[in-house]
Amino acid sequence: MKKWIALLLSLVMIMSVMNIAVAQEPLTATVAGFGGDVTVTVEVDGEGKIVSIAADGSTQTPDVGGKAANDLNEGVLAGLAGTELAELDAAGIEGITGATVTSEAIKTALEMIKAEATGAEAAPVQDGTYTVTVPAYSVTEQMTLNITFEGGKLTKIETVTAGNTPVIFATVEENLYPRLIENQSLETDVITGATVASGAVKQAVEKAIEMAGGSVADWHKPVAKSDAVVELNDYDVIVVGLGGAGMTAYLSAAESGATVFGIEKAAKVGGNSTNTSGPMAINPPSRVEANGGQIVPPEELLADWAEYTTIDGQQDAKLDVVEMFINNSGETLDWMEKYSFQFGDEMKAFFHPAGWKVWTSYAGKDGKTKDEAYVEAMEAAKAMNEKNDYKLELTATELLVEDGKVAGVKAVAADGTTYLVHGKSVILATGGFIGDEELSNEYIHGVWRTEAMTQCDGAGIKMAQNAVNANLYNLDVVPVSHIAQVYNIVRNDDLTADQKAILTSLALDKAYPVVGEDGVKVNDKIGMFFAFDVWAAGPTYYVIYSENEMNGFKENGLAAANTPMFLAQGGTVEAGVPVADLDQILSVGEAYGDVFKADSLAALADQLGLEKLTENVEDQGGAYYAIKGASYVYSTCGGVEVDTNLNVVDVDGNPVSGLYAVGNDSLGVLLASEKAYVTYGGAAAGWALTSGRLAGAYATAYAKGE
Ligand SMILES: Cc1cc2nc3c(=O)[nH]c(=O)nc-3n(C[C@H](O)[C@H](O)[C@H](O)COP(=O)(O)OP(=O)(O)OC[C@H]3O[C@@H](n4cnc5c(N)ncnc54)[C@H](O)[C@@H]3O)c2cc1C
Repeated sequence: MKKWIALLLSLVMIMSVMNIAVAQEPLTATVAGFGGDVTVTVEVDGEGKIVSIAADGSTQTPDVGGKAANDLNEGVLAGLAGTELAELDAAGIEGITGATVTSEAIKTALEMIKAEATGAEAAPVQDGTYTVTVPAYSVTEQMTLNITFEGGKLTKIETVTAGNTPVIFATVEENLYPRLIENQSLETDVITGATVASGAVKQAVEKAIEMAGGSVADWHKPVAKSDAVVELNDYDVIVVGLGGAGMTAYLSAAESGATVFGIEKAAKVGGNSTNTSGPMAINPPSRVEANGGQIVPPEELLADWAEYTTIDGQQDAKLDVVEMFINNSGETLDWMEKYSFQFGDEMKAFFHPAGWKVWTSYAGKDGKTKDEAYVEAMEAAKAMNEKNDYKLELTATELLVEDGKVAGVKAVAADGTTYLVHGKSVILATGGFIGDEELSNEYIHGVWRTEAMTQCDGAGIKMAQNAVNANLYNLDVVPVSHIAQVYNIVRNDDLTADQKAILTSLALDKAYPVVGEDGVKVNDKIGMFFAFDVWAAGPTYYVIYSENEMNGFKENGLAAANTPMFLAQGGTVEAGVPVADLDQILSVGEAYGDVFKADSLAALADQLGLEKLTENVEDQGGAYYAIKGASYVYSTCGGVEVDTNLNVVDVDGNPVSGLYAVGNDSLGVLLASEKAYVTYGGAAAGWALTSGRLAGAYATAYAKGE
């Protein structure tokens, strides 16, 4: 063995003397991309020439950033082999349209590698205020910020337009702006619950650094994390997640006399629940009284529900829990009205011929928003006992179990501090798993576009599974799905609002073949509302047009003007008006991964892997287009199994003492496998508020030994 090492060493020495290039250790740099890190690895030879560059975009959206990384790897980055690293012009590399964030992250990582390898001095930024506009979360408004450097340091970030929901953006202004200024680093963590907005702010700061003559690579120094551990003891109830279900759980536990601690991952309370229009509330006692009798016949509603959740003669929901929900949802409304909330008139069930008035809208009292009402309710509950507390930007990671009993929660704060919160009972209210790729792939046919908060990543479900072997129940219920749009919404000015509306209309037209990822047509499953039913195609779908049909739109206009119910971009579209600029719209759509064209239907099927397309769509000859669309879902529906006491049930069918699951974390017990959630209206939000209220009281009784 030693001989071999000696031989190798002498070989290396001979090669060096002969000036033959010797491979060096690969150089790597990691930079935040779109919702995840991008790592770039560069191999150089002994002469400092690039041997290979590999960008790992596996954390990026697969067919946007992930694809961009692959395209760059195979294209321009491969072409850089042989270039001297010291001469590399990373800023001059042309990125991929529609995947700007990933492309920029790759370029920055390359600059960092070059700076590290060449020991280059940091490039100073010129003092001044720079105005930068970048696409953000909104589909109608971009984000514009004034960014100031003084003495070579970032000193001020000022919002001109947020391009985001104001209440969510407020968490970015309050938390991310000061942290970026304090850390002077783009490695500062994004704010949970405002990931897209945070990413856009960081992108704007990058642009400002470049405008000021600096190098983005110099602004990626690591940010130190705390390794402190904080122990909090003797709580009766710990609530994990403070959205709708968590807020009512916290409030009802406090009201029932428990000492209660709340853990919330985002920088604000409310979760997805403050975006909800309304919960189901059957026969609120106050309104039954005013009505002089029941508003909805509960037995008939239960029977109707049971019919919907029966599959092949088998009941798939837990009907005893459904009944418990129906019978308690009305009281939740009256109970919340005692605090900071008010509810509108009862509204009729969607699509149901009986016209039952099953749901209502809700808001804060005295014109306050839901967000304000949630904060007021939390503060009222906190004030009920001086030990009560809750902490934002604290992420629960694990259930603590002692002697086989649930005994608390381990969590990590934004600054890295570990919290060990000890208590007698735990209520899981983490909002389901729409943000988790693994569970989505396993149970709901892949990752869905969503209007929900992606921090709901199955934490509650996984914690219960890992700690107490919780039974999973109907994780494969179809996610709540009421919105459809093109797959990659163009959020900047590459198209006008009217052009965006035309692209959208093409993506929402069931008069043309609508197919899933397998190429199978789903038109017969789409009823009155395209967006409510197109989930049948799966997380993504394609609308197929022949080139002849597209040419017809240029001359005669679209056959129909299809507008989305949500996520409209402010433009107008009219049927029958010639679309002279259709080629431009389609080519921008192509760059964004929304439009695909091939010389024939079969070639289109090959290009997109739509195996059964040619069997499902009649080939009229000539070239074909596919417009890619997606359901933008509200939430997942399946979770862990609970009983009528909201206790988590383990795989052996036994309730787990002291552990409760509410809201989306247990919604599957009301629903049926592979079916859409019940369409009465407000069932998901109603379950969140009612299950939380009841679990808060049950957990308190358990903790107090009652
Ligand atoms: C735009 C929109 C509109 C909707 N409209 C309706 C409607 O009209 N009617 C209806 O019935 N349903 C509607 N829904 C669905 C409904 O909002 C949800 O089903 C409901 O809000 C779920 O409540 P929840 O408390 O379970 O989850 P959420 O309200 O989402 O709360 C979960 C909370 O847990 C936190 N969390 C996650 N992981 C952790 C962790 N590890 N540690 C600590 N905290 C964590 C999250 O940050 C979040 O605050 C809508 C959803 C959306 C997005």
